[in-house]
This record gives sequence, C-alpha cells and structure tokens, in this order.
Amino acid sequence: MRRPTPSPRIGLDTRTDLPLIMSTLSRNEEMARRDLGVVWHPCTQMKDHERLPLVPVARGEGVWLYDFDGRRYLDAISSWWVNLFGHANPRINDAVRAQLGKLEHVILAGFTHAPVLELSERLVRLLPTGLARCFYADNGSSAVEVAVKMSFHYWQNRGRRRKTRFITLSNSYHGETLGALAVGDVSLYKDTYRPLLMDVITVPSPDCHGREPGETWEAHSRRMFGPMEEALAAHADEVAAVIVEPLVQCAGSMRMYHPVYLRLLREACDRHGVHLIADEIAVGFGRTGTMFACEQAAVSPDFMCLSKGLTGGYLPLSVVVTTEEVYGAFYDDYTRLTAFLHSHSYTGNPLACAAALATLDIFESDRVIERNVALARHMARAADRFRDHANVAEVRQTGMILAAELVRDRSTGERFDWRERRGLKLYEFALSQGALLRPLGNVVYWMPPYVMDESQIDFLADVTLRGIDIACA
Ligand code: PMP
Repeated sequence: MRRPTPSPRIGLDTRTDLPLIMSTLSRNEEMARRDLGVVWHPCTQMKDHERLPLVPVARGEGVWLYDFDGRRYLDAISSWWVNLFGHANPRINDAVRAQLGKLEHVILAGFTHAPVLELSERLVRLLPTGLARCFYADNGSSAVEVAVKMSFHYWQNRGRRRKTRFITLSNSYHGETLGALAVGDVSLYKDTYRPLLMDVITVPSPDCHGREPGETWEAHSRRMFGPMEEALAAHADEVAAVIVEPLVQCAGSMRMYHPVYLRLLREACDRHGVHLIADEIAVGFGRTGTMFACEQAAVSPDFMCLSKGLTGGYLPLSVVVTTEEVYGAFYDDYTRLTAFLHSHSYTGNPLACAAALATLDIFESDRVIERNVALARHMARAADRFRDHANVAEVRQTGMILAAELVRDRSTGERFDWRERRGLKLYEFALSQGALLRPLGNVVYWMPPYVMDESQIDFLADVTLRGIDIACA
C-alpha cells in the first residue's frame, strides 16, 4: 500500500485538504469509497460501480490525468470533448488567475465587464460572416435551449405565430435538458422522457456510415438531402428552425457526413424561410479541422451554439451567436414585450471568459489549425494498425475526431448485441493500460487534446488495437 505523504497540517492531506483516514485501503480506494457514499455520477448506472472502480483524479498535467495512487491516464477524449490544450495549461492558468484578482463574477443584466465584451468582439471577428450578436449561458444544453427559444420567439415577434416546430436529424444529440433532449434523437437518452418532450419532425441523417457500397461521402450526403427538402417543403409554414450538428454527430456514435449537406441545407432554409441552428458545441474550435465546421461548407447559420472548447475545457461557458436580423426582431419599446427575457445566474462569467480569451490567444499564436493538419494525418496513419481488423467495420475521421465501428463480423457487418457491453470492456482494458478511452456503445474513438504528440498517439493506437482484440474476443 502507498502511504499518504506525511502532512505538516496534522490530520489533513495537503493535496486535497481532506481528512486522512488511516486504513488498509489505497488512496484511490479510499476516495472511491467515500465518493460512492455521497456522489451521483452523470450518465452512469451507479450499480456498475459495485464492480467497476471509479478513478479519483488528483491532478492533471498536459494530456495526462494522475490518480491518487500515482497512476496516470492519457486523456484521449479530452474529458468529454472539452479540453484543447491540456490540463493545467500554464497560459490559461495565468489568465484565470489574473482575472481572479480583478473580478470573479458580476450580474450581466445592466452590467458588463472587459472579458465578456472582448470575447464577444473576437468571436464575431472569427465566426462566419453575419453572426454578430452574442448571448451567453453556462453549458451546451442551455445554449441549445436559448437558440430554440430565440428562433421560436423571433417568428412570434414577426407575427408568424404558426411557426412553432423544429426539424432535427435522426441520431442527433443536442443535450439533456428537456428542450435540447426534444430536438435530439438518441433513444438511449430520450425514450424515457418522451411524454415530457415537444414533438419534432425527424429527418434521416446524412450519416455516411449508411452509404451504398462504392458511393462517395458526397454522393451519399447529397442523396440524403432529399427527405430534408421534402420535410421543408411540407412544413415550412409551421417550422421555426432546422437544428444540426455540422459534419459529425458526436454523441450519436461519431457518425460523419459531407459538407455538401450543410450547403444544400442553408440554401433550402433560405428558400423556405426557416432558420438554421448550427450546434457546434462539440465540433467547434478546430475539432473538424477548421475553426468551425460550417466553414467547410462556406455557410453561415442563423444561430451558432458554442461551448466545450470555448474555454479550452476549463470552465462552464456557452454562447449563442446570431444575426442582426434576429436581434432586431426583439429590439423595441419595453411595453411591446418583445424582449428575450431569458437568463442564467452565471451568464458570461468573467473567469470563464478569461479562459476563453486565453484559449483564442493560443489558437492565434500557435497556429493550431495548421499544426493540427499534421496531427490528424498522424492519427490516420496510427489507426492503420486496426483499420483492417476482423472486428472493425469502418474507421472514419473528420479532422481531430477518429472513430472505429466495432462489429462481430466485418465480412457480414453483423453487430454486437448492445447488452454485451463490448465498449465497456475496451474502456476497462484501456484504463488498465493508462489510457482514458470511453467508447460510445460499440464505437471507440479518439478526440484528443491538440497538444497530444505523435508518440502518445502511437501509444493510443497500440492500446486501442489490443483493446479491440480483448473486447471483441
Ligand atoms: N450539443 C452537442 C453537439 C453536444 O455534443 C453536447 C454535449 N456532449 C451538448 C450539446 C450539450 O452540452 P452540455 O453537456 O454542456 O450540456
């Protein structure tokens, strides 16, 4: 057993300020035991932890997470897709620390502060043309709620009272709050709550995993636009907006599609008088190879939702950026009651905005998007190790997201029964080897921090290959 380091403050561990409990448990075991007595973890069947060890993290540094027993784990999923430049990044740390000495938080109604206005100006400069007004919230789901409410409310203010519905893609994911869940389509998260959710129009996804043999991504995505065009033609007078995750349906097993779909969608939304909401919460900030995924289709949505990488994975912050046209529909005398009276206590938190500004600084000074091109290429080469594996139906990649679809039999495409929980086996194996991989069902993926180096990606490829062998045996 590793003994806790003796502490000058008797009875307290200086690393955690938690009371020391002298026992035969390792520090990890002790932390896990206490945690499981009081914490209810997200997206978890807590009973799994009767068998599955929880991993208490003492600290992070760069691409590594360190537990209390001194073991380390390569963070291959950027801690739920948020981290861009590593844990405890000195530049972001400094920026947050400097802001902490000035202002930790202030109400954003009637007041403003330097970090929020500077961030807004910089985002507007960076984002596709036309996106000019920033409305803040504090997590991704809340940003989706804001975009959905704003679009609906825009049409109400414009006198188009029948426009109350939304079109979404099958297999899409937009968050867990009730409005966000309603416009998503992952049944595992949604089915239980259906009686609570608004009714939406769901159109088949352009996901290229389903393309015909020999069909290109572009041809498939173009063909899959047919049902969207039909839905728009049939329902435009009652639809406020179409909401999509540009290029990659991340929570929907990292399914990917061609930018041509976004181009056709923008054109059709314009033609039918329907808003386009781009949920770039997961794919924004360089994930797909460009700063924003919409750039690859050269389109500008009416609403763009951003979160996760916005603060480099440091602090909860989200923003919906919209057009002057939308903003103008709410701008009137107070007594006309057209204002967008939506708020969250931590809207535009200064510490989070300071982390976001430091993140944008790193993008600029380190030419991150350019450097990621080489890194993404290396990810593709490293994945060659399992590309032709008997249990891998497909390896797909868009920029800094790479995913492998695991199947029972590559030649027939037969899938594993979800109850076999093959992905969980891979997760456990990877942890034992010092890597955090968290497959989505039977899809194992890499979404690394951009500071991961080539040898670390090679290590990841090795763990992934051996993990596939073990999980699929
Ligand atoms: N939209 C997308 C595309 C997401 O991937 C996520 C989170 N995985 C969300 C919305 C919700 O964000 P949050 O978890 O911060 O509520």
